[in-house]
Amino acid sequence: MSTPPPPTPSTEAPSWPHCAHGADPVTNPVGCRGIHVPGHTACLAHLNDTDRTAYLTGLAPGADIDHRGTPFTETLLDQLLIALTDLTTPHPHFGTAEFREAQFSGDARFDWARFSRDARFQKAQFSGIAGFDSARFSRDARFQKGAVLRGRPVRRGAVLRRRLVRQGAVLRRRPVR
Ligand SMILES: [Zn+2]
Repeated sequence: MSTPPPPTPSTEAPSWPHCAHGADPVTNPVGCRGIHVPGHTACLAHLNDTDRTAYLTGLAPGADIDHRGTPFTETLLDQLLIALTDLTTPHPHFGTAEFREAQFSGDARFDWARFSRDARFQKAQFSGIAGFDSARFSRDARFQKGAVLRGRPVRRGAVLRRRLVRQGAVLRRRPVR
């Protein structure tokens, strides 16, 4: 069981307003790269519990979400998925899903999720399983070069095509042209 090396902290700040949790002028000048939750100055992972709960409660199925650069534990991702779950189906439903450079520790189970707009996972890092069994995409979901799936870097990029992803289609890779 090999563990991927942790990403080298970038000394370049992301292009979005970022959380900066844990920043240190010497060892980690940028800190947490998670984008601010709207109306706050921290990412979803580093909001206090009250504000996180309020944000999640305010989400509805089909909402556009933007969690670029945010570190997700399995628990935090589950909380987000539950907040977006359409009880009539009952599966999570994303509008635009913006997860560029997000980091998923443990497994990231997007099984049965519906993505009705763009799903962006470029340079996202998955330390466990990135599960998209039976997920539905209205548009292609892109995992470009630099993404890390199951601890292995994607060298040529991957696209989950716009179609019903059949069960077992986890990490089926297709080159990005
Ligand atoms: Zn943060």
